[in-house]
Amino acid sequence: ASPAAETRTRTTCGYCGVGCSLEVATQGGEVTAVLPARDGPVNRGHACVKGRFAHGFLTSPERLTRPLLRRDGRLEPVGWDEALGHVARGLHAAVAAGGPDAVAAISSARATNEENYLVQKFMRVVIGTNNVDNCSRLCHSPSAAGLTASFGLSGGTDSFDDVERADCLLVVGANPVEAHPVVGARLLQCVLRGARLVVADPRAVGLALHADVHLRPRPGTNVALFHGLAHVLLAEGLVDEEFLRDRATGLPELTELLADYPPQRVADITGVSAEHLMDAARLYGRAERPAIVYGLGVTEHLHGTDGVRSLANLAILRGAVGTDRGYGVNPLRGQNNVQGASDMGALPDLLPGYGKVTDPAARARAEEVWGVPVRERPGLRIPQMFAAARAGGLGALWVIGEDVCATDPDANRVAEALETCPLTVCSELFLSETARRADVVLPVASWLEKDGTFVNFDRRFQRVRPAVAPPREIRTDFEVVHAVAAAMGVDLGCPTPAAALAECGWVAPVFGGVSHDRLDREGAVPWPCPDPGLPGETKLYRARFATADGKAHLAAAPYLPPGEQPDDDYPLVLVTGRRWAHYNSGSMTRRGGNLQLDPVDFLDMHPDDAARYGLRDGEQAVVESRHGRARLVARIGEETVPGQVFCSFHFPASGVNRLTSDHADTVTSCPEYKVTAVRVAAP
Ligand code: SF4
Repeated sequence: ASPAAETRTRTTCGYCGVGCSLEVATQGGEVTAVLPARDGPVNRGHACVKGRFAHGFLTSPERLTRPLLRRDGRLEPVGWDEALGHVARGLHAAVAAGGPDAVAAISSARATNEENYLVQKFMRVVIGTNNVDNCSRLCHSPSAAGLTASFGLSGGTDSFDDVERADCLLVVGANPVEAHPVVGARLLQCVLRGARLVVADPRAVGLALHADVHLRPRPGTNVALFHGLAHVLLAEGLVDEEFLRDRATGLPELTELLADYPPQRVADITGVSAEHLMDAARLYGRAERPAIVYGLGVTEHLHGTDGVRSLANLAILRGAVGTDRGYGVNPLRGQNNVQGASDMGALPDLLPGYGKVTDPAARARAEEVWGVPVRERPGLRIPQMFAAARAGGLGALWVIGEDVCATDPDANRVAEALETCPLTVCSELFLSETARRADVVLPVASWLEKDGTFVNFDRRFQRVRPAVAPPREIRTDFEVVHAVAAAMGVDLGCPTPAAALAECGWVAPVFGGVSHDRLDREGAVPWPCPDPGLPGETKLYRARFATADGKAHLAAAPYLPPGEQPDDDYPLVLVTGRRWAHYNSGSMTRRGGNLQLDPVDFLDMHPDDAARYGLRDGEQAVVESRHGRARLVARIGEETVPGQVFCSFHFPASGVNRLTSDHADTVTSCPEYKVTAVRVAAP
C-alpha cells in the first residue's frame, strides 16, 4: 500500500500566552511534526519545545477514552448516555435542593473561546447562577482588576510588535526565556539591538544575565519597590507633566504617598540597594520609548492588584501609555487562552466583554440575546466555591480542564472540598489528581483536536483547528456542554463554534467585528474590534482611556507585607513558577519527549542554605510549610539568593501545592503563590 499523504493544518499553540501559529503535519491521522508558521503574527517562524514537541500525549495509553462513573467508591467506564444522564440528574437535584447557587463551574484556558462562552451561557441560562469562574482567578485576575481600574480595560495596553520598538524594557516578575520562550527571544533581540533592560525578579532569571540593572526584591515587596521607582521619577523630574495634567488623575494623592518611599526606606523593605533603585528609575525615566512587561511575580500576591496598579503608575507618570512616548504595561499570560476565558465571561461578576452582572444595561444586552433573565448577584470565585463545598453549601461542581487538586493552593483542602461535594464532574484528558476524586469523568478533546479560537496575551484572536480527530469516544468541551444542556432539556443554540463566536459578538460588541471567516482570511484580529470593517486596536487609549472620566488613574496604595513571613520555624521563602519544557500541571507535556528534556522537579536553593540544612545537590529534600509537606530533589546554585527556594508546579507527585497557603489577593482572591514560608531538611 502507498504511504498516506501528509496533510498540514494551521492552528494556534495551546500552551503559553504567546499564541504561536503552528503548522501541524499529519499522516494517517497521526501527528508527525509540529512546525512554527513562518508568517505567524507573533512567532514569525519560531516556536519553543512545548509547542513543537509536546504532542505525544495525544496517543498516550493513559488517555481517557470513555466516560467514568463512580460506583461503590470506584470509577468505572460507562457510555456517554449514562454519564450525561447522571450529570443532568445530579445538577437538577442540586438545584432542587439548594437553588441555582448550589451549582458551580470552573472553566479554563484549555477550552477555546467558544467553549468558554458556552460554559458561562450554560451556567447563566440553564442553571440560573453566576457561579462560573476560570483559571485566570489563579494567575492574572489582579491584572484584569488593576489594569481596568488604572486604564479602563483588562487587557495589555500595547501589542508585542510595539513593545519590541521600546528603547528601555522594564521586565518585572517574569521569566519569559523559560515561560514564554518566543517572547523571551524577541526581548533578547531587542536588547541586542540596543534597548536598555531592567529586570526586577528575586531570581537570576535568564533575562537578568543581559540586564543593565537587575533588582532582586524580597518576595512580597513589589508595591514598595514600584513606589521607590516612582519616588525617584518624581524627585528627579522624569515625568510627563503635560500628560499628567491632561490625561491622568490622582497625582496629588500619589505624591503625598510617595514622600514615604525614599530610596533608603525602600531599600530597607525590599533589600534592593538605593543605588540600584535609582539606576533603574533613571533608565526607565530617561528612555524615549519605555515599555513594561510583567508576569505572575507581580500578580500572585496578597496585594497583587495593588502591585499591578503601582506598576501602572510608572507608565502613567512617564506618559508612556496611550501615546507614542512608550509602550505601556503588558502582562505575559501564562496560558494561551487565559485572556479569552475571561473575555468570554467565564467569570462570576462579569459577562462576555466585561459587562458587570450588576449593571442593568449589560444584563439587558445578554438577556435580549439569551431570552432569559440574568442574575444580578455576582457568583462565587474559585476559592469561595471550595469553601462552600467544604461547608456543605454546594451540591454540584463541574471542573473543566483544570487539575485543581494539583495547581490550586493548599491542595489538601481543595481535595477535601471535592470529596465533600455531593456531585463533582471533571472534564479531562487524563485521570488527573482532580479526575481521581470526581464522581463523573468526561473524556474530552485537546487543543490539537478541536475547532474554535484563542486570544493570546496581546488580545489577538486566532483560529484553532483540528489537526487530528480525537479518539472515537472522546468529545470536545463544546459538544459536552451542549449534550449536558440537552440532557437537562435545554437547547443552548449556537450549534457550531463559529455560531457561538458570532453570538458572543452580539452580547459583547467589543468582539463584534471578529468571526471565524474573517480570521480564516486575515489570520489574527485584536480586540477591541466592534465592526467587521475595522482592523481592531493593537494600541489602546490613543484618544482617551476607557475609564468613566476618560483619564488614566494613578493609584496611591500603601505597601503592606505579604501574608506569610519567614520565622524561626519556617525560615525560608518558597517561590513557585514555570520551567521551560512543561505546561501547568504537566499532564500533557510530561507525556512525551519533553519529560526526557526535563524529567524531575527540583528545589532550587543557594549553596549557603544547602550547607545550613545539610542538603546535597541531587539528593531528596523534604519541604514543609504550615499547610503541608512535599518532597523534591535539591538543585544547588546561585539562581536563588540565600533565604529563598524555588520550584515549579509541573509535577503533581511532588505535592508542591500542598505547601502553598490560602492567602490571596485582597481584591481578586488570586492566591499568593509567590510567598510561602517553609523549612527544608534531608529525609
Ligand atoms: Fe509559542 Fe508559547 Fe507554544 Fe512555545 S508554548 S510554541 S512560546 S505559544
